[in-house]
Amino acid sequence: MKAPHFTIKNKFQKQDTLYRDLLTPEILSDICLKTTGRPDYTYEFDDTGYNIGRLVELEHQGKKNFISISETDIRSRNSSFQSLPSALARYILEENPNKEIFFYFHPSISGNYETPYFIFMYRLMKTAKIGFLNEAEYLEQPISPFITAEDIIANKDRIRSTNRGNRSTYVTRGQNNELQVYGKTYGANKYETTILCLALSEVAHSKVQLFQIGEGGLTELPQKAKEAIESLGVVKIYASNRTIEKIDFEENNSLRSVEYVYKLLETLGDKKCAFCGCEIPQIIDGAHIWPVAEIKKDETLSQDEKLACALDGANGLWLCQNHHKLLDSNILRVNEAGEVQYKSEIGGIHLIFLKYITRQTQLQESVLSDRFINYIQKRNRNLRESLYSTVG
Ligand SMILES: [Zn+2]
Repeated sequence: MKAPHFTIKNKFQKQDTLYRDLLTPEILSDICLKTTGRPDYTYEFDDTGYNIGRLVELEHQGKKNFISISETDIRSRNSSFQSLPSALARYILEENPNKEIFFYFHPSISGNYETPYFIFMYRLMKTAKIGFLNEAEYLEQPISPFITAEDIIANKDRIRSTNRGNRSTYVTRGQNNELQVYGKTYGANKYETTILCLALSEVAHSKVQLFQIGEGGLTELPQKAKEAIESLGVVKIYASNRTIEKIDFEENNSLRSVEYVYKLLETLGDKKCAFCGCEIPQIIDGAHIWPVAEIKKDETLSQDEKLACALDGANGLWLCQNHHKLLDSNILRVNEAGEVQYKSEIGGIHLIFLKYITRQTQLQESVLSDRFINYIQKRNRNLRESLYSTVG
């Protein structure tokens, strides 16, 4: 019977030394044994096409295996996974239905590759149907895939709270229960965004929207990654685009802006009503402090400056729909010290209800930035404080 046949991608064979250092005959034999049950193999190099990273393909008896090999020197979080999305995209777009994809820990791996973040990424990978060929030799705990989207969101939050420095990708739900991913599409974060979308495609029961958060000119994921994500039929990809936001700003007095929501997520963290603590994402809005309609009337600002105010993460709070409405109706007000106040003329059962649902009577210190207070001052210009009483 014909021996399994490797196609070795360009990362491993640009120079002969690379091949000898990174991909020894022992490693190839081990991979071959673990995927096909036999250790002998033939191989060829494939240096066509663009750089697709640390990938080998192994064909045997009509089945095609894709094997992504780990980095050896683990230094930074996301760069350790940079080869994986292109391998995964190649696998997903492969037409042969008899196919499988694996991840292989390189025997020379060094550094801390078992941090909570790495474990989270391994779990996403397993959820995205990537098999691990040698996890038992390298990890203390076996990796379990995520079962639900909620499971992914909860774990992502946990990682974020232990590492507030790297806030890249957010998963939340929109008003119609749709899963929403706000993902950066540049730098190392694009790998996380891609793997996250592929994992969500396996477990989501509802449609998923991916809002691509760019920087400068680069606003989209690599073409192959987009094709792979869309081919699974679950995730719809949207660009976040200043031109569209600008048109929306000029034509409407309420701004349903991807960029604004993303900036609120960055500034305030996950959706949680600032007045009552409600965390049901479907009913939490991004509420402008200085309202869009008022910004537009300001004659001292240029059009671009107005848009910047409308999209500023400091110009907003997460509020549940009740509290958003109460704020916009000026029944509730926030003063410059961050105290929540109610219109003194409200009385009786309405006041009892207001006090009952408004559990947070003082905004957190972390919210009260100079810019935030500046927006409060603009908002309150026409609301006399003497007409209000403090809720607490
Ligand atoms: Zn609320």
